[in-house]
Amino acid sequence: MTELIFCSNNEHKLQEIRKMLPFGYILQSLSEAGIQSNIDETGTTFLENAFLKANAVSLLTKKNCFADDSGLCVAALNNAPGVYSARYAGNEVTDADNRRKLLSDLSGIQQRNAYFIAVICLIWKGKAFYFEGRIDGMITHIEQGNSGFGYDPVFIPDGYKITFAEMSPDEKNKISHRQIAVSKMIAFLRNSKV
Ligand code: IMP
Repeated sequence: MTELIFCSNNEHKLQEIRKMLPFGYILQSLSEAGIQSNIDETGTTFLENAFLKANAVSLLTKKNCFADDSGLCVAALNNAPGVYSARYAGNEVTDADNRRKLLSDLSGIQQRNAYFIAVICLIWKGKAFYFEGRIDGMITHIEQGNSGFGYDPVFIPDGYKITFAEMSPDEKNKISHRQIAVSKMIAFLRNSKV
């Protein structure tokens, strides 16, 4: 069994990643690993934030761990909300507040291209490795669907007519930015196993 700490307590992300990992991996959340403090995301890039989280946990636990930093980039908004996706409408806001602000900022704008990106930093045997996943799509005019989290109800991936929030979790997990990044990490782990 390979034990990995996922440097997050975000239940949605944990659930998604637990489903993605093949047999043989045990995933621990931050709190399951005994870490109570939250690590501030003070970086200005996804890569920097993923490293900050993974490195802090690696220093505290001395164990193999990984962190993901992810977000939504909207072309018409100069790629905002980007790294600030979780705090787009301000600090201490809900996902619904962020979606409302996004739809309001895009009102009257027809160019609605956007992409989700996830960058994973894995600290494996003391060294940092990075894996990126991206999925392109467009922002809806109204919220559609109740599944998932974050911006799922306002994002339709290219090649689909429904939002992430209208898909089953399995359907989303087959194509999502996080799935692409996690698959790359799993391939790396398979190749580096002794
Ligand atoms: P962080 O990676 O914890 O900094 O937060 C990323 C933020 O981006 C989340 O709070 C969501 O608002 C958004 N986000 C990232 N991945 C997804 C996704 O798969 N669906 C919907 N929103 C997402």
